[in-house]
Amino acid sequence: MKRHLLLAFLFAFVCQLSATAQKKVLDTQQLLKDIKILSADSMAGRLSGTEGSRMAQDYIISRFEQIGLQSYNNSYRHTFRLESKRLVVEEAVNLIGYIPGKTDKAIVITAHYDHVGVRDGEIYNGADDNASGVGGLLATASYFKKHKPYYTLIFAALDGEELGLQGANAFLENPPLALDLIQLNVNMDMLSINQQGELYASGMYHYPALTPYLQQVAARPQARLLLGHDRPEQGQNDWTKQSDHFQFHKRQIPFIYFGVEDHPHYHKPSDVYANINPVFYPDAAALVIDFIQILNKKRPDLR
Ligand SMILES: [Zn+2]
Repeated sequence: MKRHLLLAFLFAFVCQLSATAQKKVLDTQQLLKDIKILSADSMAGRLSGTEGSRMAQDYIISRFEQIGLQSYNNSYRHTFRLESKRLVVEEAVNLIGYIPGKTDKAIVITAHYDHVGVRDGEIYNGADDNASGVGGLLATASYFKKHKPYYTLIFAALDGEELGLQGANAFLENPPLALDLIQLNVNMDMLSINQQGELYASGMYHYPALTPYLQQVAARPQARLLLGHDRPEQGQNDWTKQSDHFQFHKRQIPFIYFGVEDHPHYHKPSDVYANINPVFYPDAAALVIDFIQILNKKRPDLR
């Protein structure tokens, strides 16, 4: 009996040690504040071209400034004309900042900040889709501002994803750096709702050279990384074309997409802050930062 107690005690002690060993890579309170503000009713679902979208832009710009990101041509705002079946926006806006690395070779980190707005009088707040990804992008920028990266890291909060991946297309049509410097796109879209504590990384089927680095990402207490959702035979469950990373893939730029399985709040008015998982989300965002940090340490040839 005593021996069992001792073993149990030792086991608890080791668990505690490994939990402590998990480096704190982000400020949880700030992350939750970012997603809460971006998905507030006042932002009215952040449809491209609306006042809610402009409020979201102002908030993201204030966070870029606070973090200390550099800008291209003295502005984080990169405008483009957006035309879809549903609407035309003369001045859609991508927000782009960067942290110079030790090389000009770059990793472009993306998350779309737009969502679908108001329909039939109901606000589609888009907390998970994709205020969560923007929060993850801001947390990644904060981390690498304090831990100088090897790669130049470009942070692009994109507009017009919900209207056909248009912000990503505009970024690549009018890029702030030569496209052949881009080694990789890391796209975050929906990081904050999963009951099983599972975050997917998708893209290794197309870019198998990335697999060993994804396999090195250790699970966090509330989140673990699964690989998949990228094979053509998976049909609807192949996520290759489902978010902004597809625009990079179309141009033969490798991508890894981080996101959760679809859930009942997806593209529903119930995708609100109250329905995100506040313990899973910070660990999911931390997994993405861990992956980017592994790449900065190992410096693989990606293209
Ligand atoms: Zn999305």
